[in-house]
Amino acid sequence: MSAPLLAVEGLCTWFPIRGGLLQRPVGWVRAVDGVDLVVEAGRTLALVGESGCGKTTVGRSLLRLVEPRAGRVLFEGEDLLHLPPAALRTRRQAIQIVFQDPMAALDPRFRVREAVAEGLETFGIGADATERAARVEAALARVRLDASLGERFPHELSGGQRQRVCIARALAVEPRLLVCDESVSALDVSIQAQILNLLRDLQAELGIAYLFITHDLGVVRNLAHRVAVMYLGQIVEEGPTEAVFTDPRHPYTRALLAAVPSADPARRGVAVRARGEVPSPAHPPAGCRFHTRCPEAFARCREQAPALMPRDGRAARCFLAE
Ligand code: SF4
Repeated sequence: MSAPLLAVEGLCTWFPIRGGLLQRPVGWVRAVDGVDLVVEAGRTLALVGESGCGKTTVGRSLLRLVEPRAGRVLFEGEDLLHLPPAALRTRRQAIQIVFQDPMAALDPRFRVREAVAEGLETFGIGADATERAARVEAALARVRLDASLGERFPHELSGGQRQRVCIARALAVEPRLLVCDESVSALDVSIQAQILNLLRDLQAELGIAYLFITHDLGVVRNLAHRVAVMYLGQIVEEGPTEAVFTDPRHPYTRALLAAVPSADPARRGVAVRARGEVPSPAHPPAGCRFHTRCPEAFARCREQAPALMPRDGRAARCFLAE
């Protein structure tokens, strides 16, 4: 079997809590605390969890926009965490990221065409200006943006059009993996659906892989091939999307699903909800990290930490799923 496009192993990204006169580290926020993930070429893995669970830090750690403390990020077999800066810059062509807020991601002084051409110039793609211009037009057409919008500035576009520009800019450099970090979260539901359809079509056309990071489990059902659910810096469940949706094995996944509006009356109101607030990743609870909110917790959960147990091509971090 060939190696996956991306394999993340034991990824840890901690941020120091500084204190005292000398601002020395007095503790650590364990934003990502031992995460394993696999993204196959041409497929989509959704990384789902509440705000503050560490999922955005995972995306940024892959590209070393924040520096991980430990682990391996194997992209096409090469560990990105050990690449020297020049080699890492070159590798970033193959892994692009689309953020939640396109207004913040686009330079307000750049017209659409200039924004899309930015990456081509950064990576020296295209023999000359004519070839780069042709690549820009192709990228705009690919994201179904009318060529007439190419001369507009970001503030002259709608939110959906701006996000299409960000996707066009990322695709123009022909990446093999696109990290979508809450890329549709700020959009209206109907525009969200259009962007999700566009991403699905682009994957079919280009064979690109996605790591789709979102707090909303509902948006990934028709997009993701597999889902990884994250809680307090760790993966608590991972598996094929339909299996996770129809037979969730972790109580936290069941709680997230309960928050998804369901068209099926039989499903409405039957799932559990997690109690209370997410604890601080600076002081994760002993035992199972979810025990303070888990409606199914029992004595062992407060004392022992469950491992992520693989079974039938899936995995769950819960004693009840053993
Ligand atoms: Fe809940 Fe216990 Fe399972 Fe943790 S191990 S998810 S506390 S039942």
